[in-house]
Amino acid sequence: MSMEPDHLGKCLCGSVKLEVMGEPKWVAHCHCPSCQKATSAAFATYAGFDKSSVLITGDGLTVFRSSPGVTRRFCGQCGSAVSFEGEAWPEEIHLHMLLLDDAADFEPQAHTYVKNRQPWVHMQDGLPTHRTFGADKE
Ligand SMILES: [Zn+2]
Ligand SMILES: [Zn+2]
Repeated sequence: MSMEPDHLGKCLCGSVKLEVMGEPKWVAHCHCPSCQKATSAAFATYAGFDKSSVLITGDGLTVFRSSPGVTRRFCGQCGSAVSFEGEAWPEEIHLHMLLLDDAADFEPQAHTYVKNRQPWVHMQDGLPTHRTFGADKE
């Protein structure tokens, strides 16, 4: 069995590197206020993986606890958002998907927290929408 990662990624400056084994459990856009602030974008696109299948390395890696039970990692050198971990998903890490070199291969499956979406965001991709988390967490 090969130990080569299935997917590689890096932040904008290259200081933080991602190695991922296996495929995402899910891919989704999040419109919540924390993700908007963390990325300065209208919504953040995540790929969810088992924590055990993701290795994040690099001197720039910095941790911010954005709310109780929530850990956000980012690059302290270039500011790229890297990951989200929350108590609601103890086994998972949610990667900011656009850091993966092959992000184009992963199709988003849903929009979450659409109750907080910016009024000028018009979702015409036909994907399911959830007011808060996905249906299993509402
Ligand atoms: Zn960086
Ligand atoms: Zn969010």
